[in-house]
Amino acid sequence: MKDILSLVRPNIASLAPYSTARDEYKGDIGIFLDANENPFNNGYNRYPDPRQKALKARISVIKGIAHECIFIGNGSDEAIDLCFRIFCIPGVDNAIAIRPSYGMYRVAADINDIQLREVQLNSDFSLPVDILLAQADEHSKLLFLCSPNNPTGNCFPLVQMEELLNRFDGMVIVDEAYIDFAEQPTLLTLLDKHTNLIVLQTLSKAYGMAGLRLGLAFAAKEIIQLFSNVKYPYNINLSAMEHAERLLARDVCSEVDIIKKERTRVAKALAPLPCVLKVYPSDANFLLVKVTDADRLYNRLIEGGVIVRNRSRVKGCEDCLRITIGTPAENDNMLSIVSAFS
Ligand SMILES: *Cc1c(COP(=O)(O)O)cnc(C)c1O
Repeated sequence: MKDILSLVRPNIASLAPYSTARDEYKGDIGIFLDANENPFNNGYNRYPDPRQKALKARISVIKGIAHECIFIGNGSDEAIDLCFRIFCIPGVDNAIAIRPSYGMYRVAADINDIQLREVQLNSDFSLPVDILLAQADEHSKLLFLCSPNNPTGNCFPLVQMEELLNRFDGMVIVDEAYIDFAEQPTLLTLLDKHTNLIVLQTLSKAYGMAGLRLGLAFAAKEIIQLFSNVKYPYNINLSAMEHAERLLARDVCSEVDIIKKERTRVAKALAPLPCVLKVYPSDANFLLVKVTDADRLYNRLIEGGVIVRNRSRVKGCEDCLRITIGTPAENDNMLSIVSAFS
């Protein structure tokens, strides 16, 4: 087993975390005169549970992961930022990521003054394992993978991700924001075997709660303890937790099924159109589409009231638009504009 805790910044390893009023007393009590709250009940006058016990219990059942191996953040973005803050000494350490991929790894690295060494994916969007590892030195603390990857839509083979987990001497963060749309299984089952693995998921995509801002990180309990120590004490508000618990009681399989069927239908409808050069295979809820004139088609779609993501200036995604799968009616609307484009 790799010595994961030796990767942690010394000031974080020795941190005495803020102790909330509700942390200090563990029993059942009825009169709360400890947190300077307004005592008159309006549903939100009390501070929320800083440990999010109820929501973690639900997520634990859904994902089959022990509650002490779960972190809930204000979006996945909080978890990404915490990875830098926990492991990387500003101005000294570095992180490795793939390109093209999710833009927040770069932003979080820049905010934390951490050099991000980006490695271009192969032209078929496959993983250049040896080139990624060749970027690493003794100050490389994090390696970011995203599978299915945004914006390319593909999953990386499990054997390659496991090879990186074995050979990289730092934390490997696998962002699975789109895993519910993929054929490939999650890496959550590898957490027991690889202590340097952090899996990120989110309630923003398949679970339909982007507005609530709830991101998830799964890792060894020692790592999750560090996330808890460094996060803002009340990072998840009571309203978000209540709504999430209610919405998690609902089954999203039927919505995910429709989105996956629509993904197939839309890909088939786009492929033969004159302006479409290539529809990349997708394991996510979007399609990356190479077209003859991305900027012009992007603007034509806007004129038609449809916004997509123009990725044509991203290296490796030249001439590409990223199109999210919407409702069947929304997709038809988009398809009619692309069909009429010349
Ligand atoms: C959408 C997305 C997320 C989700 O971010 P949240 O902050 O949880 O909404 C994370 N990673 C990737 C790659 C994404 O595309």
